Amino acid sequence: MMSLKKSARHANRSRKTGPSAGRVAHAASTGLHRNRMKKTSARKCVFFDRDGIVNKHPGPGYVERWEDFKLLPEFVAVLRAVRKLGFDAVIVTNQQGVAKGIMSKEAVDRIHRNLGATLRKKHLALLDIIYCPHYEGKCGCRKPRPGMLLAAAKRHGIDLKSSWMIGDDKKDVEAGKRAGCRTIFVGHAEKAPEADFRVPDMSELQTQIANLISLG
Ligand SMILES: [Mg+2]
Ligand SMILES: [Zn+2]
Repeated sequence: MMSLKKSARHANRSRKTGPSAGRVAHAASTGLHRNRMKKTSARKCVFFDRDGIVNKHPGPGYVERWEDFKLLPEFVAVLRAVRKLGFDAVIVTNQQGVAKGIMSKEAVDRIHRNLGATLRKKHLALLDIIYCPHYEGKCGCRKPRPGMLLAAAKRHGIDLKSSWMIGDDKKDVEAGKRAGCRTIFVGHAEKAPEADFRVPDMSELQTQIANLISLG
């Protein structure tokens, strides 16, 4: 996996020690808060999909520039709630636009660096931001495959069974389930009947989040 500054080193480490070894070797990560990594005691974590959950969904295209990244206030509130409940937070996002040449890895990294900084100003920490830059079917990290969650668990010592995946696409729910997490789907309930919980939109997620994850 790649971090912003130490891409190569991360890639090597993931290749040698990652749970899915080569299959997830190229997923990219900002590597935020790497100094907080610990392997001995398991963390519980909420994994968040990005587009449609963290930021306003760009529609059929991609968010190519930070200037077009519209952070959702509901996400900020949800993140604050999960952190208060003792969960770490990791964003896991498919960004196939990189493979298609629509945007560069540097552009995605810049968006994620700015996102991390914006949240830090609100005294909110993300443990990591991980993205899959690959074409569908070419890797183990693109959701619905669970590679990004498994890699995060390995890297940060996350207990997946105590963790959650929240997303607005069926693929998010499937990736979460395959990783052994409980799942919350945001959107029309019939689109992801297999999710453990479903809420219609981010505003309802904001209202329900504390109840849902403390029940679970
Ligand atoms: Mg999404
Ligand atoms: Zn991938």
